[in-house]
Amino acid sequence: MTKYIFVTGGVTSSLGKGIIAASLAKLLQARGYTTTIQKFDPYINVDPGTLNPYEHGECYVTEDGAETDLDLGHYERYLNTFTSQANNVTTGRIYQHVINKEREGAYLGKTVQVIPHITDEIKRRMLLLGEDNKFDIVITELGGTVGDIESLPYIEAVRQLKWEMGTENCLVVHLTLIPYLKAAKELKTKPTQHSVKMMSEHGLLPDVLVCRTEEPLYKELKRKIALFCNVTQDAVIEALDADTIYGVPLEMMRERLDVICLEKMQMPLGTEPDLSKWKEFLNKLRYPKSKVTIGLIGKYVELQDAYKSILEALIHAGAINECKVEVRNIHSEFLTKENAREKLHNLDAILVAPGFGSRGIEGKIDAIKYARVNKIPFFGICLGMQMACVEFARNVLNIPGAHSTEMDPDTDQAVICMMEAQKSITQKGGTMRLGSYECELHRDSAAAGIYGNTNISERHRHRYEFNNEYADAFEKAGLVPVGKNPSTNLIEIVELKNHPFYIGVQFHPEYKSTVENPHPLFVAFIKAAKVAQENRNGAAKKIYEKSAV
Ligand code: GLN
Repeated sequence: MTKYIFVTGGVTSSLGKGIIAASLAKLLQARGYTTTIQKFDPYINVDPGTLNPYEHGECYVTEDGAETDLDLGHYERYLNTFTSQANNVTTGRIYQHVINKEREGAYLGKTVQVIPHITDEIKRRMLLLGEDNKFDIVITELGGTVGDIESLPYIEAVRQLKWEMGTENCLVVHLTLIPYLKAAKELKTKPTQHSVKMMSEHGLLPDVLVCRTEEPLYKELKRKIALFCNVTQDAVIEALDADTIYGVPLEMMRERLDVICLEKMQMPLGTEPDLSKWKEFLNKLRYPKSKVTIGLIGKYVELQDAYKSILEALIHAGAINECKVEVRNIHSEFLTKENAREKLHNLDAILVAPGFGSRGIEGKIDAIKYARVNKIPFFGICLGMQMACVEFARNVLNIPGAHSTEMDPDTDQAVICMMEAQKSITQKGGTMRLGSYECELHRDSAAAGIYGNTNISERHRHRYEFNNEYADAFEKAGLVPVGKNPSTNLIEIVELKNHPFYIGVQFHPEYKSTVENPHPLFVAFIKAAKVAQENRNGAAKKIYEKSAV
């Protein structure tokens, strides 16, 4: 029978529930248990697809085309398995389902209420992934913080499940904060006591406390927390601030989080986790032999979470190259033809990010031109690829008015235009081209060499596409469409000839990069950045030697 672990958060947001949930899942997986993670978000949007990245960070896309919370990205990167639509549920989706049923007459004669109708639907969703016994353990992360009004139905649902199933089948891990007061030189347990008290007022007690802290928790303090929060002393877990999120599974293993959970669920401990591959990755990450600087050109760069999967994919690719990747955030809105050299000249490679709308678009085009002309490794993702095509059309094919109809609906030189299938769509949520699609690569393309394959499949999230009417002109002039969707002929990759690395992709490779399988395009991009740096240093050395003579 599938067992359920719920991860709640107390005291404050941003404690890293997603990372703790993913780390626990990783350890249980390494002990031989089939494990999956799901996230329940208390907001009323049906999914985060319509949210601005400034509000909620990146929108993560699954294979089956669900627009989800970015924590699902962590789950996939840690577990190296796919998640799906079923792994992310919001209050909006719960209500939508209940209200649709009400309209169909499913509750005829009854008053539809938060309890039991909403909580029943939450419970149904919470148990769904475990229904066909595919997983030994389903971990559910509850978004928000205990005490939020909007979290209450979720806490109530977990309370009911725990009552129905018993602790051995339904465990609550509460992530909390133990602040360190510098002036008093003391760790304070009061906020944790309060958050547990608040949960207990709703009839739910945690079984395990994971305590985020800047300072180690000494034994007496653990005893005090255990006593006041009604948990066993071994279930007070220390989660010290980590230098990298990828160090957390090992920290949790040291603290025996997995063992405590399994013991409380009366499950055998299984095989000792073999995390040697993970440790190897971590070693390479912590002790790199070289360093490259990548310029990330985007319009949400002040918010790290907006490009989460790209930043993580760069970390994975850096580690495998034994190379530290320093990301320099460059705001496309403030980039111009005039300052492009000043802002970009000391970068080893340039990545132009995905995005929507026209703000900062000319800055992106200027950065792409700089990378093309100066032969700096370039990687354009989705909007980045589209703008690479616009730049090429304007500056190489001499079509000054070239644009995407997203930015200039009236352009008569639409090198990027709205997909036919999108034209009749009026609703915004969940209506883009989403999820995984096949792509066939030219056998002699750089991309095919990088993937080691001509048939690939990647995830999408966009409404606009390359206009095939321009394909021949592009190819003749050197920006070659090298990958197509075999059934629709949509162009998915372009590559520039006579350039050390210049690839634009219509899809989002970053969603598929994991610790165990860094994405080949990112790996090749970092490799190209290293070579570019070596060449630059070599050239600089020559100039220096010449001037010395
Ligand atoms: N705005 C562009 C489109 O919808 C690109 C989207 C993206 O970068 N994800 O086609």
